[in-house]
Amino acid sequence: MSVVDLLYGELASLLSNVIVFVIVVLMFVISLRLFLDRRKKGYMSMTISLVIVGLQYMLKIYVSFSAIDTSLTSYTLLMLKIISFVLLNFGIYQLYNRTFRKQYIFFYGLIIMGFVVSVLHFSVPQMYSGTPQQVRLLQDIGLELYVFVLVFLCFYMIPPYVGQQMKYQLALTVYFFIQSVHLVNVYMYGNTQPILTIAGNALPIVFYLLLFMLLFDRVVELMQAIYNSSITDGLTRLYNRKFFYNRVTQHVQRHLPVYILFSDIDNFKKLNDTQGHQMGDDVLKQVAQIMKEEAEDCGIAGRYGGEEMVVMVTDPGVKMDAFAERVRSRIEKETIVTASIGYSKYKNGVSAEELIKQADEAMYKAKTSGKNKVVKYA
Ligand code: GH3
Ligand code: MG
Ligand code: MG
Repeated sequence: MSVVDLLYGELASLLSNVIVFVIVVLMFVISLRLFLDRRKKGYMSMTISLVIVGLQYMLKIYVSFSAIDTSLTSYTLLMLKIISFVLLNFGIYQLYNRTFRKQYIFFYGLIIMGFVVSVLHFSVPQMYSGTPQQVRLLQDIGLELYVFVLVFLCFYMIPPYVGQQMKYQLALTVYFFIQSVHLVNVYMYGNTQPILTIAGNALPIVFYLLLFMLLFDRVVELMQAIYNSSITDGLTRLYNRKFFYNRVTQHVQRHLPVYILFSDIDNFKKLNDTQGHQMGDDVLKQVAQIMKEEAEDCGIAGRYGGEEMVVMVTDPGVKMDAFAERVRSRIEKETIVTASIGYSKYKNGVSAEELIKQADEAMYKAKTSGKNKVVKYA
């Protein structure tokens, strides 16, 4: 074995195919998991396309071992290349979008076009008589050029619909070079040009690594989104009650200094009744935004119930009375409602539940003594 073998001999292409095959298997595992976990039909194209890419590379590896080189194997490999390329791109599209009949028609149409172009493959031997090598090259050219059509179509149609556009376009650019290098090498140098052969072995690895990163990033993104939606409230985007309560518990258990602010919008039912539920929701969002902004540097804000919002202040430097008063006056000035606010301070021996209840009680005092005011738990 020499350096030449390793760089552009038979061994090099075998090595490249095996590496790609391993990356494809890893992607298949991730993609299958995604499909099984989420049961979304959308994740099936990616899984299926990876099976086809896997088959394509198994066949490539098999062909390189057995030295079979018939027109049928090269046709099969070409069609597998086209089908898997289309499905891979469809799979990437589906990672980010819901798909409807229109998209299925588009992508499956591209595959069907591949079969239409195949007519050339089967008609060339009847129409043209040359050496078997010449016939073969002419047979394949239609499908090989069709791959370029696919690359360009994907490059212009898909990026607006996917995240990580740069990575996706980079992958397609790499694929464009894979195909160009392949064609130049096969049609101009009889597949023997060393530099092109090295590129032909290395670029597919880059391409599939880029796709792997794309898939992996998307999975992490989906996990993150699921986690975020499990700890936040859909309407206001504040933390939900459970998450807020757990955070308060953590602080209380460690005996850290904590204040709880509890606010309840005044006469909110009336606003809903007179101006409609939609208006009510808009106001809730505005008040939530104020809470979020005020809590940003010193703690966290949550939605405790319907129009009850809470803040846990963990910064011991905060002057709580001024803080609560600022929240109250901002609500009064910036929205069409007012809020009654109560707050409590953590003391040793008090549980998270009690601490929040104390702030709630203080808020209740603010309600019963005229509303739109701040009361400290005594
Ligand atoms: P008070 O000043 O005593 O607090 O009077 P109130 O009308 O605000 O009384 P209460 O707190 O009992 O009413 C809460 C109302 O908030 C009841 C419900 O119609 C409304 N509400 C709760 N959640 C939502 C929501 O998500 N959207 C909207 N639009 N309204 C909500
Ligand atoms: Mg209420
Ligand atoms: Mg209320």
